[in-house]
Amino acid sequence: MAARPMPYLDGLNPAQRAAVECLEGPVLMLAGAGTGKTKALTARIVHLLTTGTAKPNEILAVTFTNKAAREMKERVAGMLGQAVEGMPWLGTFHSICVKLLRRHAELVGLKSNFTILDTDDQIRLLKQLIKAEGIDDKRWPARMLAGVIDDWKNRALTPSKVPVSDASAYNHRGVDFYAQYQARLKDLNAVDFGDLLLHMVTIFQDNPDVLEQYQRWFRFIMVDEYQDTNVAQYLWLRLLAGAHKNICCVGDDDQSIYGWRGAEVGNILRFEKDFPGANVVRLEQNYRSTEHILSAASGVIRGNSGRLGKELWTEARGGEKVRLIGHWDGEEEARWIGEEIEAMQRGTRGLAPVDLNNMAILVRASHQMRAFEDRFLTIGLPYRVIGGPRFYERLEIRDAMAYFRQVISPDDDLAFERIVNTPKRGLGDKAQQTIQTMARSNGVSLVEGARLAVESGQIKGKGGKALHQLVTDLARWGRLAGDADTTHMELAEIILDESGYTTMWQTDKNPDSPGRLENLKELVKALEAFENLQGFLEHVSLIMDNDKQDAAQKVSIMTLHAAKGLEFPAVFLPGWEDGLFPSQRSMDESGLKGLEEERRLAYVGITRAEEICTISFAGNRRVFGQWQSQLPSRFIDELPEQHVEVLTPPGLYGGGYGAAASSAGPVRSTIEERMASADGYNSPGWKRMQARAGERGLSQPRESKSSVIDLTATSAFTVGERVFHQKFGYGAIIGIEGDKLEVDFEKAGAKKVVARFVTAEDG
Ligand code: ATP
Ligand code: MG
Repeated sequence: MAARPMPYLDGLNPAQRAAVECLEGPVLMLAGAGTGKTKALTARIVHLLTTGTAKPNEILAVTFTNKAAREMKERVAGMLGQAVEGMPWLGTFHSICVKLLRRHAELVGLKSNFTILDTDDQIRLLKQLIKAEGIDDKRWPARMLAGVIDDWKNRALTPSKVPVSDASAYNHRGVDFYAQYQARLKDLNAVDFGDLLLHMVTIFQDNPDVLEQYQRWFRFIMVDEYQDTNVAQYLWLRLLAGAHKNICCVGDDDQSIYGWRGAEVGNILRFEKDFPGANVVRLEQNYRSTEHILSAASGVIRGNSGRLGKELWTEARGGEKVRLIGHWDGEEEARWIGEEIEAMQRGTRGLAPVDLNNMAILVRASHQMRAFEDRFLTIGLPYRVIGGPRFYERLEIRDAMAYFRQVISPDDDLAFERIVNTPKRGLGDKAQQTIQTMARSNGVSLVEGARLAVESGQIKGKGGKALHQLVTDLARWGRLAGDADTTHMELAEIILDESGYTTMWQTDKNPDSPGRLENLKELVKALEAFENLQGFLEHVSLIMDNDKQDAAQKVSIMTLHAAKGLEFPAVFLPGWEDGLFPSQRSMDESGLKGLEEERRLAYVGITRAEEICTISFAGNRRVFGQWQSQLPSRFIDELPEQHVEVLTPPGLYGGGYGAAASSAGPVRSTIEERMASADGYNSPGWKRMQARAGERGLSQPRESKSSVIDLTATSAFTVGERVFHQKFGYGAIIGIEGDKLEVDFEKAGAKKVVARFVTAEDG
């Protein structure tokens, strides 16, 4: 039989190839970021098919996100280069389990058309149960119970299997409520996310015939990002692979970032015990990042204890050091990154231009996205948010904006419809119909119709009272909008508070609620850049309209969690400040578990970058109009200094520093001098940065590359040298006369400037 061509093997190194060609028996590929684990896994699927070892539907491949599954499918199809009937089972644990559960729902007392509850529904259901038992849900919130139950489900524990040691959970009522909740779900023919796996594990455990059927069916099993599987997922895999043991798992203990969701990195360590004789493949060559980036990431992760420990190397010598820059505040950081992205897009400092698709901003918390989105919309920089809606499209933001619109433009009926019963005011469909009719028959706006409906007694009772309150409040807020003593930020807060909107999310125990409250704070913060609410609303409607941008090239914004497995030539990692990253929660926790998970997240972030990695922090952030000074992240200290270049804070880019910069005289090109000279650079964050920069000699590399120009040092310049001027930007020196330089600026043309206002450009 003629051998089929296997071009997909050619590009693999020997270790990868070994993992790909070892088709029978258990294989564990344990290796650091960017070593080609996912690539090898994909090649392995292709190899199974090409060699005819497996038919497509005999392969089960589990990825972490739907996006990853899609990409893997495309790559498999591309590599195959020949028609194969059907495709492997390729998806997330959840997507695969939904399909299987629909086939066997009756085995756990469900019908195959069961519904899947989202977190909101789950909480609502639990609240009903708690209320029915007369429990104070302020002291014992439904969200807490939901967390306890999720945790049990992640550990594959049905109510009867919850161990005695957990009996005290949720005031000793946890197990009882868990059983009630499961019974209620069955009545409703519904499942929650955790059930998808839990039910499948139960079905496999209780029905050996069903399990055998799938063991025969899925002859080859592959799992990416194995370090983030929880116990239920692990058990499910172990059951499926139990007979043939053809299971190949790939992972990296240093990238385990879902401990908070019940993932157990111990699953990796157990693999060899569960599957004795497993072929353990280690990959050490990183193909993604340059040496500086890889070394910086390795330096940070070294701070964690109990690692398996892996050394990585790369052939990509040199390249740019990891760039570190401190900013005055968060807005400044966003502005600088926007400018930097545009500069990279054009190609600066002798580097090749970078496409927007090849750049990403990875944030720790989604509320950090707002500053970037706002800035990018303003300057017309196309972007996409991965793994969630964009800021101004979020539910809570659209609600809040509807309130603002209604206050500013009382005729805005669409806004009124949105807010009239949000938060709940006891105004059902019937009451809302009455308002509509009233407005139409009188030819007035809805808010006016509402007033008439209340006054004429057509809407009475609790709803009527609440509606009357709303109408009165709207009128009062409208007057405040014209009152010079109330800033529009204050007004926004008043509206959100007095309408009950903020309270609605504060009392909502849904896990999403704290994030929504953060977003509302961000919204108020965004207002500060505008003169009044109206100006802000115009800004948003314009940018939302503008923004039907279907540009092919966009910069990506996402959370660090969502960036797992991805790679980009240029990565920005903003907000490296204690309390933000690492998160306050991880710092408050006793023990190091949370902090170590944050550190792994830092490792994931840095290792997403192929060529340029820029870490930044701000000395100040505004929280509800209040300045809060920030300390640079402890992870910044852990970056090995020989792989880091400290960049000059902005101001150099023209504007941005406002009064502080102009009153402080010429911009200095080292962080310390910058901090020492400018007013307001006295926050603890800057001081600590200063101290750290000093301790670690961070200023030296900078000074060796680009020096501060003082009055006596003009001779340091040479004709032809590239320089930067605060006002005129970049240019080349064409003449020197004493302390004056003649410079041919790229944008401003030839000009004579005083030498001390000029800095030598890097490299
Ligand atoms: P992560 O841990 O971040 O998920 P990974 O180990 O899955 O990383 P891949 O995404 O598979 O790594 O590979 C990283 C990059 O290296 C990809 O661009 C991939 O194409 C490239 N790569 C992998 N193996 C090789 C190889 N043998 N030769 C050349 N390039 C490779
Ligand atoms: Mg991968």
